[in-house]
Amino acid sequence: AKGQGGGGYVLFDRGMHEEALRRLDLELDMRRALEKDQFEAYYQPIMRVADGRLMGFEALVRWNHPERGLIPPAEFIPLAEENGLIVHIGRWMLGEACAQMRRWQRAFPRRPALTVSVNLSARQLLHPEILPEIRRILRETGLSARHLKLEITESAMLEDAERAIELLEALKRTRLQLMLDDFGTGYSSLSYLHRLPIDALKVDRSFVMHMHERVEDRSFVETIVNLAHTLGRSVVCEGVELPEQEALLRELGVEYAQGYLYSRPVTAAQAEMLIIDDAVH
Ligand code: C2E
Ligand code: CA
Ligand code: CA
Ligand code: CA
Repeated sequence: AKGQGGGGYVLFDRGMHEEALRRLDLELDMRRALEKDQFEAYYQPIMRVADGRLMGFEALVRWNHPERGLIPPAEFIPLAEENGLIVHIGRWMLGEACAQMRRWQRAFPRRPALTVSVNLSARQLLHPEILPEIRRILRETGLSARHLKLEITESAMLEDAERAIELLEALKRTRLQLMLDDFGTGYSSLSYLHRLPIDALKVDRSFVMHMHERVEDRSFVETIVNLAHTLGRSVVCEGVELPEQEALLRELGVEYAQGYLYSRPVTAAQAEMLIIDDAVH
């Protein structure tokens, strides 16, 4: 290429090419990561606001990459959703989280009510085998359905709301609990919220973050709480980092809270220490 413009174009093109290669590389690595056991489940505690007791954990995936180190989900879940690997990763997470919770139940018989929440992507929810999969995992791990919560985002409902509602109803019949994740972001499903067989709304961190300093955000959370309670659903607020935020949640009657104020997501071994510490109080 001749001249500035042409050179710039070639450079830009090479940049694109490198980005594509990087993605392809990541994708190939991801395919092998499952066989090589490189995914790890981290656990973040979910607390009851009224008395500060530990109610359970949200399981969050991490990728322990041999060269790149610990990769957060934001860097590979979107790609896994595109190429379909999320179905395999998600299946592994479900099995892992259920088996872990069952082990904790055996180790801590005085904490029989602890639950584990697992994120389910839209693609996983709409997978034809999802129901038998979940039943199999519960049977094989021995965890009873009422100790499992599935977190589903509103976007999972967008493509085919009728089908999604049917699926959620079928899931509910297995007696597990359903949470509507990242509530308030994306398209709001206010028009059919009352039809969704969900047990709780999870208020997205972006609303919780500023609620102690921005009256609009506080009102927004208050409105969600009132709406949820009118419909007989409970509320979980995520991203609670400050005691001021927790105090507001208590005032608003929010049932559950999750965030760095209590703990970051930690390994299973560290989570076990949190169970032990909680039992002391
Ligand atoms: P999410 O489901 O909304 O999970 C909550 C995210 O907020 C987690 O990020 C958690 O570490 C972070 N978080 C919790 N408390 C605080 C806080 O007080 N402050 C701040 N700044 N952040 C907080 P993480 O683990 O990086 O996960 C990001 C997203 O990746 C999740 O968002 C979820 O959408 C997705 N994800 C994670 N694990 C899985 C999985 O196994 N399957 C699927 N489908 N998605 C997953
Ligand atoms: Ca979640
Ligand atoms: Ca969330
Ligand atoms: Ca979120």
